[in-house]
Amino acid sequence: SATVSKAELSTILSEEVPEAMEFIQAGVAKMDALLSGFLRFSRLGRAALRIEPLDMNTMLASIAQAMEFQIQQAGIALRLDPLPGCLGDATQVNQVFSNLLDNAIKYRAKDRSGTIRIGGRAENGRLIYAVQDNGIGIPPEHQDKIFEIFHRLNPSQGEGEGLGLTIAQRILERQDGKIWVESAAGQGSTFFVSLPSGANSKDKP
Ligand code: ADP
Repeated sequence: SATVSKAELSTILSEEVPEAMEFIQAGVAKMDALLSGFLRFSRLGRAALRIEPLDMNTMLASIAQAMEFQIQQAGIALRLDPLPGCLGDATQVNQVFSNLLDNAIKYRAKDRSGTIRIGGRAENGRLIYAVQDNGIGIPPEHQDKIFEIFHRLNPSQGEGEGLGLTIAQRILERQDGKIWVESAAGQGSTFFVSLPSGANSKDKP
């Protein structure tokens, strides 16, 4: 029947309602995170690019400085090699490397001390940068999928929307860049970013 006994009502109010509220709140927080992700994503597509020579040493040093607290809390040793410069949009390239560093910290292996190494070299008129970690790694079957929107290996683990690498890939595509990963599950990952070299840009067709 539609009527509810006093005892049933009491159970609903004391147990079921608070539990439902928890689910709703978790759902709202999740939607909120997704939505801000979407907004970033869509604004990004329209932002005008400003391609200029980039001093990657200065950029990576400032990113490392901004993340110094996180890096220290995680007990990570960060090694920053001297980096050659490239051509790109400063704000967006900064966003890509911030995201890669953030992931390298987030997906560290908890059973060993973390190391992150950032390096770069010139190759065939382009620059290839590498962000290498000794974290949890990515199994081969996920290595392409992580660049797809909302793809996450362990949704239960830590905060994240599964947007970072998707955005990084879009950002780089727009400025003649690329991103890819080499990884061994349980051992670590290296994310590579390639961008045009300032020196050779005038030789391009
Ligand atoms: P998010 O970190 O918000 O989940 P990303 O798009 O940045 O989203 O990454 C997608 C997924 O790729 C992550 O959920 C994680 O499973 C995996 N991943 C990214 N970077 C690393 C890394 N350095 N080591 C291990 N797994 C990673």
